[in-house]
Amino acid sequence: VKEETTSTRDHAIVIGGSMAGLLTARVLANHFARVTLIERDPFGDGPESRKGQPQTRHLHGLLAQGADIMVGYFPGLLDDLRAAGAFVGDAAASMRWFVNGGYRTRFPSHLTGATMTRPFLEWLIRSRVAALPNLTLRHGHGVAELVATQDRRRVTGVRLTGSDNHPGDVLSAELVVDAAGRGSAAPRWLKALGYDEPEETVLRVDVGYATRIFRRDPNAPGAWEWIFVTPVAPRERRIGGAFPVEGHRWILTLGGWFGDHPPTDEAGFRGYARELPAPDIYQIASTCEPLSDIVSYKFAASIRRHYERMTRFPEGYLVLGDAACSFNPVYGQGMTSAAMQAAALDQLLARRGAGWSEGLAPEFFQRVAKVVDPPWQLAVGEDFRFPEAVGKRPPGTNLINSYVSQVHKATHRDPTVGLAFLEVMNLLKPPATLMRPSIVARVLKDRLVH
Ligand SMILES: Cc1cc2nc3c(=O)[nH]c(=O)nc-3n(C[C@H](O)[C@H](O)[C@H](O)COP(=O)(O)OP(=O)(O)OC[C@H]3O[C@@H](n4cnc5c(N)ncnc54)[C@H](O)[C@@H]3O)c2cc1C
Repeated sequence: VKEETTSTRDHAIVIGGSMAGLLTARVLANHFARVTLIERDPFGDGPESRKGQPQTRHLHGLLAQGADIMVGYFPGLLDDLRAAGAFVGDAAASMRWFVNGGYRTRFPSHLTGATMTRPFLEWLIRSRVAALPNLTLRHGHGVAELVATQDRRRVTGVRLTGSDNHPGDVLSAELVVDAAGRGSAAPRWLKALGYDEPEETVLRVDVGYATRIFRRDPNAPGAWEWIFVTPVAPRERRIGGAFPVEGHRWILTLGGWFGDHPPTDEAGFRGYARELPAPDIYQIASTCEPLSDIVSYKFAASIRRHYERMTRFPEGYLVLGDAACSFNPVYGQGMTSAAMQAAALDQLLARRGAGWSEGLAPEFFQRVAKVVDPPWQLAVGEDFRFPEAVGKRPPGTNLINSYVSQVHKATHRDPTVGLAFLEVMNLLKPPATLMRPSIVARVLKDRLVH
C-alpha cells in the first residue's frame, strides 16, 4: 500500500447508487480510468423504489438548476422524460401555486423544470451511467468499511460486506466518494480511523408525508400544471402537491409539520386534502381514479454535516449529497444540491494536475458548503416560522421571514418579483437577489397598493 500522496487516477469508487451516487459516478468517469459504483440494494431492470431510498415513492420535482446540470451530463434526458409523458417545461408558466391566500401569477420564463416519478428519473440516469465504457455497477453488496494506509492518512479503498463465513472483498481506489445518503456511515468510519466526527446542525421539523398515485387525463384542463398549496406558517402547517408524471398519472402528496401528519386511510387522506386552503389538490384526490395505495414517510429533521469545519480529514475520501446535507423535502432541493456538488467536484478535478489528491477534501468541502448554504438558508428560514422549530436561528430570521411573506404576496401579481423568487427557489440565484433595491421597491409598492 502506497503511503504517499497519489498522482494516479486509475480507479475511483462511489458508495451509493441513488441520485447523488449516479451523478458522481458520471463525473468521475471524466477523470479516472475506471469507476466502480457500489449499491447495497440489488438494482432491478426498470424504475423502482428500493429499500435504501424509501423517499422515492413520494412527490419529487426537479428544479431548473438541477435540470440544467443533468442535461449537461446526460444530453437527451429531458427529451426522454417528455417522451414518456413526464412534465418538462416552463416552471413559471405551468405552476398553480397557492400561497399566502392567493395563486402566484404565471408568466413565460427561462426556467425549465421537470416533474416525474423519482424512480423513473433515476432509472433514465442509471441506464446512461451503466452504458459508460469505464464504469462498473456492483449492486446487491454494501460497503462495510473504509480501508486506509497504516498511518490512516489516506483512504485506499473499501471492504464490501461479506457473508457469515467470508469477509467481504477489498476494492482499492485512489478516490472513494461516499454518496450513501442521510444514513451514511461516514461519521462512524472516520471515527474508526481516529478522526473526529463532523459537527452537525440539526433542525427538527417532524414532517410527515402521505402519497398516492392517480390517473390523469392528459387532455383535461390543467393536466400539465404542477400544483402546490403551501401553508401560511405558523397558522397553517399543511402542504399539498400534485405533479403530472409519466404514464398519464398524478403523484399527489400531502404533508404536515410538527406531527400534523396526513392519515393513510382513504377517508382521512381525502379529509386532510379537503382542509387545505385551496381546492385543487382535493379535487384530484376526490375525482381521479386512485392507482396505488397510500404510502407514508416521516422526516424528523434536516441535518447538515459540516465536513468543511474538520481540521483533519483523510486523503482519498469525500462525502456528498444527502450524506452531507439532508434538507426538509418540502422545498425540493436535494437532487439539485447533489447535482451542484457533483458538478463542483468535476470542476475541481479538471483543474488539478499531478498532485490532485493533496488537499482535495478541504477544498471540496468548502465548495460543498457554498453550494449548500443558500438552499439550507431558504429551508431553515421557512421552517423557523414555526415556534416548535428548535435550533440555532440565524440572525435576522424573523425580519427576513416577514419580508419574504411580502414577497410571496407580491408574487400574486408581479411577474418581476415572481421571477426573482423562482430563480432563487430554483437555486439559480442567491437568496440575496430578493433584497435587490429594484425588487424591494416593487414588493413595498405592492404592499402599499394591496
Ligand atoms: C419525502 C422526500 C421528498 C423529497 N422530494 C424531493 C424533491 O421534490 N426534489 C428534490 O430534488 N429532492 C427531494 N428529496 C431529496 C432527494 O430524495 C435526495 O436528495 C436525493 O435522492 C439524493 O440523495 P442521495 O443520493 O444523496 O441519497 P439517497 O437517495 O438516500 O441514496 C443513498 C443510497 O446509498 C445506498 N447505500 C447506503 N449505505 C450504503 C453502503 N454502506 N454501501 C452501498 N450503498 C449504500 C442506499 O441503498 C441508497 O441507494 C426528497 C426527499 C424526501 C425524504
